[in-house]
Amino acid sequence: MSPARPPTRDAVVPLTLAGPRPRLPRGKPPRHLADLDLAGRRAAVADLGEPSFRAVQLSKHFFGRYTEHPDDMTDLPRTSRAALAGALLPALLTAERELSCDDGTTRKTLWRAFDGALVESVLMRYPDRVTMCVSSQAGCGMACPFCATGQAGLTRNLSTAEIVAQVVAGARLLADGQIPDVPRRVSNDPPKPPRVSNVVFMGMGEPLANYANVIAAVRRLTDPVPEGMGISQRSVTVSTVGLVPAIGKLAAEGLSVTLAVSLHAPDDELRDTLVPVNRRWQVAEVLDTAWDYAAVTGRRVSIEYALIKDINDQAWRADLLGSLLAGRLAHVNLIPLNPTPGSQWTASRPAAQREFVRRLESHGVPVTVRDTRGREIDGACGQLAASARPAPPASARPSAVSPAVDPSAPSPAPAAPPASARPS
Ligand code: SAH
Repeated sequence: MSPARPPTRDAVVPLTLAGPRPRLPRGKPPRHLADLDLAGRRAAVADLGEPSFRAVQLSKHFFGRYTEHPDDMTDLPRTSRAALAGALLPALLTAERELSCDDGTTRKTLWRAFDGALVESVLMRYPDRVTMCVSSQAGCGMACPFCATGQAGLTRNLSTAEIVAQVVAGARLLADGQIPDVPRRVSNDPPKPPRVSNVVFMGMGEPLANYANVIAAVRRLTDPVPEGMGISQRSVTVSTVGLVPAIGKLAAEGLSVTLAVSLHAPDDELRDTLVPVNRRWQVAEVLDTAWDYAAVTGRRVSIEYALIKDINDQAWRADLLGSLLAGRLAHVNLIPLNPTPGSQWTASRPAAQREFVRRLESHGVPVTVRDTRGREIDGACGQLAASARPAPPASARPSAVSPAVDPSAPSPAPAAPPASARPS
């Protein structure tokens, strides 16, 4: 049996590039109110014989109070609560395993969906913000050889509500006081109640290969309560390997989300290997489309570049990248390569990383080195593989050094590379 759904038209190319796909029962995830806009929720409530304003009440419970439990919905008649919650707030994701690091401020959750599909999300709390890194697909069909998610192939697209549910679950953890506060170093500001402030589509999957569900999820996340969760569009980042037609469509959505392009090489010869979809849409075309996106939205494009020792970290590649990006509305996020099972590649040497930064800066290109949280729980970029196997204790792992994956507000490029990039 093939996976739950056939590839969509958006998932044009490389669904066949990656390896075997796990077998799952067919069928769609149960319908949830987060799959519907408010008009759709009103219609669904009316179909149940309830007054349509109940859609707003249910939506406030889910998007504003993060609850799905009928008992919490005291503004609904007792007799209707279970039927309404049962029809519109089915449990979509069950937490299979939770792993924390950074004193509890980084939390990875492995979720099991209705059909057994496994996905992961990562919450990262900082003094001034909370970022949720979410999955848009179970697995990924893009087959980038340095990324753990790409190794297992695509299982299926997540539904809109399955994507939104990851963020709501993070918001609930925060609201329940389960994620410790991170003390501010120098600030007299009163502490703000914790809420998810940023969402990055940088978990498992290629968001633009699940276009319709991802766009609907962005709308649910950013529309104000009761339509959605009320997160700022500017605080949402959609990351892509470079699916050119879908980037063009995204530019026309009228959203002000940040586009991140996982470039990883400035030349087609190497990028064909690192990001196999490059054989379909090459560097020049991907970047031209990214500049169109920047022109339409006014948003600076983030160019993601995992620095891999002796593979893509040569000075000439830094110069070539610098010349491609000079004068553009772009910013480079260098990611010291995170280790993935079975890969012979490692992060660049500190001196190579420093030189790469220096050369980009000499072209006037803004560059930061990403702080990559979550490494010791395999929660950092490219490490999400969603296996239900128990992880070895952090102390037993070679890379248990200062972690972090927050692309939403990268730290300024340090004069010295972060500890995570130092060879152990
Ligand atoms: N498919 C989308 C969304 C995934 S985002 C995309 O590729 O953009 C995950 C980010 O982490 C991407 O920039 C990806 O290229 C990067 N990444 C993958 N594996 C990595 C690794 N081992 N070390 C560092 N970054 C990695």
